[in-house]
Amino acid sequence: MSQSMQEEFNHYSTVKNVIGVVSGKGGVGKSFVTAMLAVLMKRKGLRVGILDADITGPSIPKMFGITRKAGGNELGLMPECTESGIRLMSVNILLEQEDQPVIWRGPILANTVKQFWTDVVWGDLDYLFIDMPPGTGDVPLTVFQSIPLDGIVIVSSPQDLVSMIVKKAFHMAEMIHIPVLGLVENMSYVKCPGCGERIHIFGESKLADISAEIGVPIMGEIPIDPAIAKLVDTGEFEAFNCEYLKDASDKIEHIFSEKL
Ligand code: ADP
Repeated sequence: MSQSMQEEFNHYSTVKNVIGVVSGKGGVGKSFVTAMLAVLMKRKGLRVGILDADITGPSIPKMFGITRKAGGNELGLMPECTESGIRLMSVNILLEQEDQPVIWRGPILANTVKQFWTDVVWGDLDYLFIDMPPGTGDVPLTVFQSIPLDGIVIVSSPQDLVSMIVKKAFHMAEMIHIPVLGLVENMSYVKCPGCGERIHIFGESKLADISAEIGVPIMGEIPIDPAIAKLVDTGEFEAFNCEYLKDASDKIEHIFSEKL
């Protein structure tokens, strides 16, 4: 694939590692995994940003309780900053009202994401996490081709694995020569509040089989956790301990350690 389709990162900013978080379809917890990885990297003392490229389903600002609108100056658009100092940009902090739908056609969606890459004054970052548009269609493909990702993490839920959606996401990354760092299965199980037993609501996971088949390691399995839903709804996500992806964040840090 030609490299010439790639856009330049913002002129006033630098970024060491760009990690895309992808899923074969919406609603599997991609934003939630993006946010967790960003919070964990920030807790390591690193400089972290989140680019919310899920333009039609932007949920990142709400998770961090950000309702302020982003401003700009002659240098470009300024990202918002979460309580712990994660920089973020999302269409939701640009719209007048966050409940306005974004009814834009594919090329405009993809161009907005490109502008978040080129026109946002991110500053100097160790990690930029990109909450990618879901699926394997036109918009995610354009984003994949225009932003030089250093690696991707694939998020799925147990039902996805059965329907092979994960493999589609994997093959898309493979075709564009982006390394797949690992698989995260969300909503894998529920923990019984009484006895702690793990109940696999969607049946036994096929994660290990898929992981072996495509040669990509499992980075985490996250249960359905009512505490998560509550913290997301109240915008207090940074208070969450994020233990489910602690190992995953350590692995990512290890993979990219020589660049930091
Ligand atoms: P996506 O980005 O894939 O569309 P989100 O991360 O926005 O999905 O998650 C969809 C919804 O499901 C959100 O309201 C989120 O709070 C909730 N959710 C995701 N994962 C979990 C989980 N493991 N436990 C409880 N709620 C979850």
